[in-house]
Amino acid sequence: MKTLEKFEAPFKLGNFIGGSWIPGSGTACTVISPLDGNFLGEFHFSTNEDLKAAVAKAKESFGAWSATPLKERTQVMFNFRDILKDNIDEISRIVHLENGKTIPEARAGVMKGLEVLEFALSIQNMDSQAKMEVSRGVSCEYIREPLGVVASITPFNFPAMVPMWTMPIALTLGNCYIWKPSEKTPLTSYWMACALKEAGLPDGVLSVVQGGKEVVEGICEHPDIKAVGFVGSTKVAKLVYAKAASTGKRALCLGGAKNHLILLPDAEVKLSGMGIADSFTGCAGQRCMAASVLLAVGDVDHIIEKVVERARATKIGEQMGAVIDSSSVERITKAIDRAESEGVKVLLDGRNPVAPKGCEKGSWLSPTILDGVKPGSEFACDELFGPVISIIRVNSLSEALEIENSNPYGNACSVFTSSGIFAQRVAKEARAGMVGVNIGVPVPREPFSFAGINDSKFGAGEITGEASMDFWSNLKKLTTKWELQSDNNWMS
Ligand code: NAD
Repeated sequence: MKTLEKFEAPFKLGNFIGGSWIPGSGTACTVISPLDGNFLGEFHFSTNEDLKAAVAKAKESFGAWSATPLKERTQVMFNFRDILKDNIDEISRIVHLENGKTIPEARAGVMKGLEVLEFALSIQNMDSQAKMEVSRGVSCEYIREPLGVVASITPFNFPAMVPMWTMPIALTLGNCYIWKPSEKTPLTSYWMACALKEAGLPDGVLSVVQGGKEVVEGICEHPDIKAVGFVGSTKVAKLVYAKAASTGKRALCLGGAKNHLILLPDAEVKLSGMGIADSFTGCAGQRCMAASVLLAVGDVDHIIEKVVERARATKIGEQMGAVIDSSSVERITKAIDRAESEGVKVLLDGRNPVAPKGCEKGSWLSPTILDGVKPGSEFACDELFGPVISIIRVNSLSEALEIENSNPYGNACSVFTSSGIFAQRVAKEARAGMVGVNIGVPVPREPFSFAGINDSKFGAGEITGEASMDFWSNLKKLTTKWELQSDNNWMS
């Protein structure tokens, strides 16, 4: 068993460049736990010079790593999987401390990351690089090649899972990878990088560059970075996509969401109550697949009662974690205040909850349910990213779909119903990349890929699954003729 160092606060974090931890050269930043306000550690923001040093090391390491046979690179990733599995409790604890989600939620995030890693392990068996005799004595074949130095910029809400959407696939394919974690949750990157080093990843192949906007802009502008993966808010996703594309990079930028659940009167009561409540309260509503709007079709009060009951029973600090920071608590609380002052009914009020014992300095909100929200209003349209759901009352499935279709985002949409016909209609007509039937959080399992549409995604392709292989690599086409006596064909 390979055991990683145990986390102990206060922790000093640096950049991982050329296999060593080096402090960033910019201003200092503290890491505070949203659970109890405790000081976890500190790091220095990176400057553009720090980024350049990381890219230079990555570029230097690319030749040897890309020349390493796919099967050998895959072996390193197998070791990485063993280390992550052996240390899943510790990594989940670090995610819990710095992000505030519950330990089971943190663990589930690592498990989903492992699932993508397992997909990466299977690339060696599935990507046979097809070859065909296209005319007598002439063959065509694909050669999959890595891009070179690539970068990934990640958000605070899944410190382990979101980087694992891209890192294992990009590395297995032979790229050198620069990771810019969220400045709100930088600690997990230390354990991930240590696990990869222990797994045998050569120095320089992975770099971690801590920081914020300056590093992101540097990544978009750096001429030696060939592709950028981004996950975060729509506002920043759009900026990063435009900037990266303007310098000729391949870019795939996933943005925010406003996910709609459609509740029909024929839905199974218990299943729907649980699914809806857990969708908007899980990870304290801080996931891009969380339910945000409930389109209640006709008389569904008997099911809404169950949603309220389950959400009310969700204890903060036990079943639901903290919100990332006090400014987010303030922002969400003010939005609920505004909704109330505009006549929206607060069916369940999560403002000013009693914090779990010993966590009084943490950032807490309880589940909140707003009823009678008007389509087109702020509470129907803006991503709140907290444990709040807005109920919009509608008279028909057509009306529900019209509202869902008019929202600019496009991550998830789910329908709760017992009718196959209604389910099929939603699957066909919802404007979302990921649709669910009787599932509150319709995240596809691998190898089905993850990505939304519209304002939830800028760029072509998907962040996981087979399509992601094409994002992190080029397909070279090789045409050969060794039988020199063969005739020229009509294309020769
Ligand atoms: P964010 O956009 O604030 O930050 C994401 C990353 O961008 C971070 O690394 C941050 O340092 C950097 N950044 C922030 N502002 C920047 C700027 N002005 N210029 C350049 N870089 C900047 O997002 P967040 O608050 O960390 O995460 C929450 C958001 O991420 C939500 O909107 C959520 O829906 C979204 N998200 C989307 C997905 C998805 O798959 N679509 C998954 C997870 C999270």
